[in-house]
Amino acid sequence: MGEMADMVIEGGMCGHCGVIYRKDHGYPVLCKRCWDKATPEERKGYQKAIHKEG
Ligand SMILES: [Zn+2]
Repeated sequence: MGEMADMVIEGGMCGHCGVIYRKDHGYPVLCKRCWDKATPEERKGYQKAIHKEG
């Protein structure tokens, strides 16, 4: 596993599309768009992102 996986685990980027956040969440997240599209199965292990993208 590389840096990308670490960033997902730390919530620094969306686990599906890879959009980057200004702050790490400290847990795996999906961005609002991916969260809304994701099935309950796909949401497993993720929270909805709350920090700003960019
Ligand atoms: Zn996303």
